[in-house]
Amino acid sequence: MSDLREKFVVGNWKEKIPPGGFEYYVYKLNKFMQTRRSFSMCTPTVVICPGDVFIDSMKRQAKCFQVGAQNVHADLAADRAYTGRSTADALAWAGAKFCIVGHSECRRDFGETEDLIAQKVIELLRCSADLITPIICVGEDDWVREESDEAAELFVRGQVRHILESMPEKLVEWVMIAYEPIWAIGTGKVPTPEQIASMANAIGVELFAHSDDSVDELPPILYGGSVNAGNAAEIADIEGIDGVLVGGASLDGKTFGQIIREYCQ
Ligand code: PEP
Repeated sequence: MSDLREKFVVGNWKEKIPPGGFEYYVYKLNKFMQTRRSFSMCTPTVVICPGDVFIDSMKRQAKCFQVGAQNVHADLAADRAYTGRSTADALAWAGAKFCIVGHSECRRDFGETEDLIAQKVIELLRCSADLITPIICVGEDDWVREESDEAAELFVRGQVRHILESMPEKLVEWVMIAYEPIWAIGTGKVPTPEQIASMANAIGVELFAHSDDSVDELPPILYGGSVNAGNAAEIADIEGIDGVLVGGASLDGKTFGQIIREYCQ
């Protein structure tokens, strides 16, 4: 890890609770981060995205890390009621500082389209541009990657472009992109460092094209998909990648700590 940009390690708990329990995990992560901060010149921004029911309580207990949400409600049709959803206002009230949007499981299970995902991003930023940072997930299916690396990059660039084109340029600097190839999520398969670096570059081209001219720095780009203690160091060294979005491995405090350590200097 060489550059001085802020780094991010984000845990997505999905529907799960860590095996040792919620309270114990938060206690240990606080202690771990306190220790890292006293021994490192620089530590990453660590974010845990638990189920919505835990956000408020986690926010109250989190001393050295941030809390995020896994999804947000947005209403394309407007003027309808939606049981079981959380709005951007509700998430902000509970203390979420980040929110995952467009996760491939939500695209698959809830039929989320690029238009709806763009609406969610705008909804989060409407709350107040720097209150909740949207972490926009994009990524190709295995059959696209099998076609060719160029096909995968074209596909992901199309996803990013569609979302950014629906947003005012001046808001682009407030988002984060997580490149999560669908075939890598929960499978133990990971693209090569060269493939990840090349995808980061392709995403950067879209971010640059859709950013306000006055923006000094492009938004962070994360990698997600089967990140674990064994591959975190290699991923941390990839140029153009500013951190990781970790699913399964974030539930184990020790493993998550080992991943965080790769982003401490
Ligand atoms: C995810 O679901 O966002 C994810 C990256 O999962 P995993 O790390 O388990 O592959």
